[in-house]
Amino acid sequence: MTISSDFKTDNHGWAELLQKREGQPPLRASHRVPWVIVGAGVTGLACARKLAELHPDDEILLLEAREVGQGASGRNSGFAVAVSHFTGGYNKHQIEEYRRVNRINQNGLDLLQAQVGAHDIACQWRASGFHHTAADKQSLRECAEFSRYLEALEIAHTPLDAQALKQRLGTDLYKRGVHVPNGVLLQPAALVRGLADSLPANVSLHENSAVLKIDKGAPLILQLEQAEVQADRLLFATNYEAGKLGVLRRYIIGSTLSGSLTRVLSGDEIASLGDLGDWGVLSLHGGGATVRLTTDHRLCIRNTAEYNGSALLSPQQLELRQALHRSNFNRRFPQLAHVKFEYAWSGVEGISRNGTNFFGRQNDNIYLAGGYNGSGLSRGTTFGTCLAEYASGESSSMIRDCLASAPAKWMPPRPFLDMGAFATVRLRFLGVGRDH
Ligand SMILES: Cc1cc2nc3c(=O)[nH]c(=O)nc-3n(C[C@H](O)[C@H](O)[C@H](O)COP(=O)(O)OP(=O)(O)OC[C@H]3O[C@@H](n4cnc5c(N)ncnc54)[C@H](O)[C@@H]3O)c2cc1C
Repeated sequence: MTISSDFKTDNHGWAELLQKREGQPPLRASHRVPWVIVGAGVTGLACARKLAELHPDDEILLLEAREVGQGASGRNSGFAVAVSHFTGGYNKHQIEEYRRVNRINQNGLDLLQAQVGAHDIACQWRASGFHHTAADKQSLRECAEFSRYLEALEIAHTPLDAQALKQRLGTDLYKRGVHVPNGVLLQPAALVRGLADSLPANVSLHENSAVLKIDKGAPLILQLEQAEVQADRLLFATNYEAGKLGVLRRYIIGSTLSGSLTRVLSGDEIASLGDLGDWGVLSLHGGGATVRLTTDHRLCIRNTAEYNGSALLSPQQLELRQALHRSNFNRRFPQLAHVKFEYAWSGVEGISRNGTNFFGRQNDNIYLAGGYNGSGLSRGTTFGTCLAEYASGESSSMIRDCLASAPAKWMPPRPFLDMGAFATVRLRFLGVGRDH
């Protein structure tokens, strides 16, 4: 299996809002280890932590192609979900499936909460829940369906009309919505950095250490630019980039999203944004905007998604997308039209054709977890933890929940893949209207 060594990144994102961090050095020389994990996003970090706990006498090698915080786990919108919104309407025959996914979410959220608490990770953790909102015809229908689902599953929530939403969020764009209190807002790059910097002593993390080639066998042989690793077991936590190592190549691709963050708002500007102080809004339309007032008082809007060859946007592309962030921001918050954006960022999420997640054994000594679409903070934490347990021969109801993910649908090779991916991502915006 030979691959391209292209693991580009840029310096626009949530990590750039934090103080500089000294990363772990790249891996050099030859190593022989029982366990290697590739990818240090939430999945790989959770996996490493659990493996280290299960095998305190083993060295666990965790290899990250970029710096921690530069993958999707440090570039998302920071909604750690307990209660998923399943688009396409409530279906009473799917109740067990809804429960399965929410158990996985809740387990991941609980694990994250425990880790953030135990290691005092300063990541602006706010357990204030989310507003799910509707501004146009399609999302208003979806709002009614979402409420039926919440009621059927007896999930705590508060229905909100336009006036209540305006009072909470300072915008009159939304016609209806629901507040679900179970959910956490956070600074994603601060979370993953904190998780990486508090790993158990028997985990060796190496950043800027892309695995370029894997020779299957026992032991497995991993080639890096300046190192070679022989390992008994390999756990993939590489999200949509698994294909670069010849794994899941026809089953997972990257969809590129972008958003902007304002400068820090003044007291008067914050007062014009309702009476909550900070909040998060998830659109009930799949192509709608995600908006946040962060605890450090920036407004954040994320409203583009596209197929860009599973790559980040170039500076020129990002500048063009910022016009879309701006116009939709101004529509929501005309009182803040004068407030400049300080950052624009893009990130790539892993998606499958049928929206499923990946978990399990690929091969005798290769395991993999990943691909959670736009909802991986809590889910990836459970998947990573359970992958460590599963690869160690354990069984549990949570592992069974992860294994019950539907099989992924096959995607055609290029150029049909590009056309299909382009169309799939485009479909997301059908009927988005004022929710965009
Ligand atoms: C803009 C955006 C907004 C989102 N919003 C949310 C949100 O609000 N809430 C939510 O829950 N989810 C959200 N998501 C999705 C979420 O970020 C992902 O599902 C989650 O971070 C996936 O975690 P992961 O660890 O599996 O993958 P990643 O975070 O992508 O980590 C995989 C890591 O593997 C590394 N890697 C890949 N190949 C190699 C290799 N060959 N060698 C070494 N390392 C390698 C990569 O550099 C990367 O750091 C969003 C995603 C984006 C892009």
